[in-house]
Amino acid sequence: MTYNQPMGGNTMPRFGGWASMMRLPMVGEATGLDAAFIGVPLDIGTSNRSGARFGPRQIRAESSLIRPYNMATGAAPFDALQVADLGDVAINTYNLQKSIEIIERHYQPVVDAGCRPLTLGGDHTIVLPILRAMARRHGPVALIHVDAHADVNDDMFGERIAHGTPFRRAVEEGLLQTDKVWQIGLRGSGYSAEDFDWPRQQGFTVVQAHEVWYQSLAPLMEQVRESIGQAPCYLSFDIDGIDPAFAGGTGTPEIGGLTVPQALEIIRGCHGLNLVGADLVEVSPPYDATGNTALLGANLLFEMLCVLPGVRYR
Ligand code: MN
Ligand code: MN
Repeated sequence: MTYNQPMGGNTMPRFGGWASMMRLPMVGEATGLDAAFIGVPLDIGTSNRSGARFGPRQIRAESSLIRPYNMATGAAPFDALQVADLGDVAINTYNLQKSIEIIERHYQPVVDAGCRPLTLGGDHTIVLPILRAMARRHGPVALIHVDAHADVNDDMFGERIAHGTPFRRAVEEGLLQTDKVWQIGLRGSGYSAEDFDWPRQQGFTVVQAHEVWYQSLAPLMEQVRESIGQAPCYLSFDIDGIDPAFAGGTGTPEIGGLTVPQALEIIRGCHGLNLVGADLVEVSPPYDATGNTALLGANLLFEMLCVLPGVRYR
């Protein structure tokens, strides 16, 4: 068995070659893959600054610097997993409703092939059709949701589908094991003082950013692992969970957010869970003049790959 390897920096300069995720092979279908990167260039569910449609392309561009081994954890994902870049979903940028149907249809065969998708967003609307595909295959899933926002609005501007509603819809549709949902990093101003009560009433555990300022999140992740056990688990990571000092290239920034080391602790703390997929959403390159936000997003996606079941640690 030979596993796909990222194209190395001594084979082709890192600023050259094809711009797939980590310069992995681009393939057309998921059969035979253990994990795959998929882009969803959609931002028509966004409420404020747009631009996340350019996220997948920019994350791929910044990912060209990432090397195959995780020097902190010892993870060697390309030793034992078959990984590729499955390209982008051809969403209909004129129609959000049709787009989420397209996304669900795109993901179903990937998930059914036993491939764990790692998604490059795109705004957060895209998690709903992904969760639908996940739940059809695995039943309701546990969820780790990192975000400044709870994304549980009943509607936005009268619309039931938008980037601030996916987890309300997911609960209504029975896609989640609601007693195994952890929302981490929530903060900012609310529409009402009760905004974070609805998720708590569903059984979610809400960890607001200020509750964990200055703290290591390793102990929190111990609790998360204990609560989720071996249930199929999805990780949805909105880059705005991280402070805008580190991730300003996003559409709805909120001050006082998580640090980059805390973000790494969250993802590394997922090792041992039965992760069935993950996403990194809301990177908006037009607001990311330095490329730092996309660079961070690319590295967090690599970290997600490093904690998938079956990864070999050296
Ligand atoms: Mn979000
Ligand atoms: Mn958010």
